[in-house]
Parts: sequence; structure tokens; C-alpha cells
Amino acid sequence: MEKQEIAKDLRKKLPELMIKENEDMKKHTSFKIGGVADIFVKVKTQQELKGVIEYAKEKEIPITIIGNGSNLLVRDKGIRGITIQIGMDHINVQETEDGRVEVQVDSGVKLGMLASKLQKEGIEGFSFAAGIPGTIGGAIRMNAGAYGKEMKDIVTEVTSLKENGEIQTKKGEDLQFSYRHSRFMEEKEIILSAKLSLEKGNAEEIKRKMEELNASRKEKQPIEMPSAGSTFKRGRNFVTAQLIDEAGLKGYQIGGAQVSTKHAGFIVNTGNATAKDVLDLVDYIIQVIFEKFGKIVELEVEVVGEE
Ligand SMILES: Cc1cc2nc3c(=O)[nH]c(=O)nc-3n(C[C@H](O)[C@H](O)[C@H](O)COP(=O)(O)OP(=O)(O)OC[C@H]3O[C@@H](n4cnc5c(N)ncnc54)[C@H](O)[C@@H]3O)c2cc1C
Repeated sequence: MEKQEIAKDLRKKLPELMIKENEDMKKHTSFKIGGVADIFVKVKTQQELKGVIEYAKEKEIPITIIGNGSNLLVRDKGIRGITIQIGMDHINVQETEDGRVEVQVDSGVKLGMLASKLQKEGIEGFSFAAGIPGTIGGAIRMNAGAYGKEMKDIVTEVTSLKENGEIQTKKGEDLQFSYRHSRFMEEKEIILSAKLSLEKGNAEEIKRKMEELNASRKEKQPIEMPSAGSTFKRGRNFVTAQLIDEAGLKGYQIGGAQVSTKHAGFIVNTGNATAKDVLDLVDYIIQVIFEKFGKIVELEVEVVGEE
């Protein structure tokens, strides 16, 4: 089906929906790499999301879901079909009877924005996520974490949209959370919202803690350059970034993609990197680490788009 026709149909069906044709994915990924998305929409409500999904299903158009694009490498040929950016952003904070705080949050809310709101309200337990540049949906799917804490420690419930259109709510303990993994990596479900269990704390203390963590990130990570965070997962009994460093690969470059000189765990875009540059560098690192240490390293960054 022609993309003009898809855009026309969607505009008719969902007049409020933000729709773009041939949208450059460099604009929507922290790597600032990637070809164009044929059709790119940003959904602001569950109704819009359901509308787009129903249409795509009826016309057999593939869909790709993105949050803030901070763990994504989009291939150079771009993404066919409809790319849906999750933009639902409602937050509700409530004290519970046992003196804790329950936060009901939509999946499109950015972690940094939520952390800063909770800090101002003196709510503790979310500061670990303040510097992770993703959305709640992306973070739950990846079980994102930092400084010894992960989403699994605070998520008590997740509501998602199944492929058959059914909306389902599952408890945190049923989400198969493990290191950088949840059941959403196997199930084709779209995370709509979540409940987080947090505590009351002191706004000033939380602020200090967040500033400390941010300063540590700034010192250790190349946050001034485009990247998708840690390129690889940690190994079971080794730290991948350490092996990359020991292999002498810091600063190693293919095209515009470089192993960060600041943190070997990050591949950075020095300006004009292509997805092919990044993937070639990834392959090279995997090969060197295997040859030197006999270890198999696994990508943390997710790769989407046409090969
Ligand atoms: C500078 C930098 C630092 C980082 N530091 C950390 C860190 O400390 N810890 C950490 O864990 N990660 C870190 N990351 C990686 C990244 O921020 C996290 O993985 C984040 O959770 C990704 O969220 P996102 O919304 O950007 O997801 P995206 O990159 O947009 O998508 C990632 C995956 O999630 C899926 N997805 C997104 N939203 C939904 C949804 N609503 N429902 C279903 N699937 C969905 C997408 O389809 C895709 O498969 C860092 C990245 C950068 C650039």
C-alpha cells in the first residue's frame, strides 16, 4: 500500500493524530542515526493508539513501536509501515493507606521528567532513573536500571495492549523481569501504563542525590555525544566494557562510529555515522572479545528497520 494512501486514511480516521511521511529517524533516536520511517505517528491517547493499531491490522501494515528512541539503532534503509511513537503522558500520584506512595504513570512519560516531578514532591525511590533518557514503556520493556536499582524494584503493575486488541493488567511479579529483560521482549504487547510503588522522602535530600548521580554520569559517560547508552549487556561473570577497554579498543573507529574514549561500553556517533558503521563496529568488537577472552557479548541496543 502506498504511504500517501496510508497517511490519507489515517488523517480521515484520526483527525487529531500527528502524522508524518518519510520522517527522518535521526530526529527520534539518541544515536541520531537511521533512515526514514515511511509513516511516523505520535499517539497522545489510548484511543489514538487503538485506532492506528486497528487500521494497521486491517490493512496488514507492519508497525514499529518507539518510546524516546534511546536504546535504538535504526538501519540506514529506514522503517517500512507505520512507526508509532508512544506519547501518552498522564501521571497520578497518590498516598496509600500504608503510608507509601503509588504512582500511576502512562508509558510515554519520560523518566527524567517523572524523576524531577517526584523530587519536587518529596517522593523517594525513583532517583536512580533520573539520568536514563527513556520513557516508562521503554524502561519497563528493557527493565532499565542504574546504580543497583532496576524498574523491577518499583513496578507493581503494568497494563498493556495485546495483539488481539485486549487490554490486560499484570502484577510486577508476573512480568519475568531479569537483567535488561521483561516478558515484553517476547510478547508483542504495547505497554500503556504502570503503577510504581515509592516512598515519602525529603525533597532536598533527593535533589542532592540526583545531582550526585548526574555528576557521576557526566564524569564517566560520554553523554555529550550521540549514543544509545551501553551498547552491550554485561556478561554473567564479566563486565563487557572492561573487556573492550582491556582489548585496547577505546577510540577504535569505523566510519563515523567510535568506541567512546571516555567509556568503552558506549559506541558514539562522531557526527556522520551510519547504522552500517555502528553494526560493523559491533561485529568487530564481538569478534575481538571472543578471540582475546573467549567471551560472547550480547547487544543491549535494539536494531530495527530494513536491512
Ligand atoms: C546517554 C544514555 C544513557 C543511558 N543510560 C542507561 C542506564 O543507566 N540504564 C539503562 O537501563 N539504560 C540506559 N540507557 C538506554 C535507554 O535509555 C533505556 O534502555 C531506556 O529504557 C529506553 O527507553 P526508550 O523509551 O528510549 O525506548 P526506545 O529506545 O524507544 O525503545 C526500546 C525498545 O522498547 C520498545 N518500546 C518502547 N516503548 C514501548 C511501549 N510503550 N510498549 C512496548 N514496547 C515499547 C521499543 O519497541 C524497542 O524495542 C541509556 C541511553 C543513553 C542514550
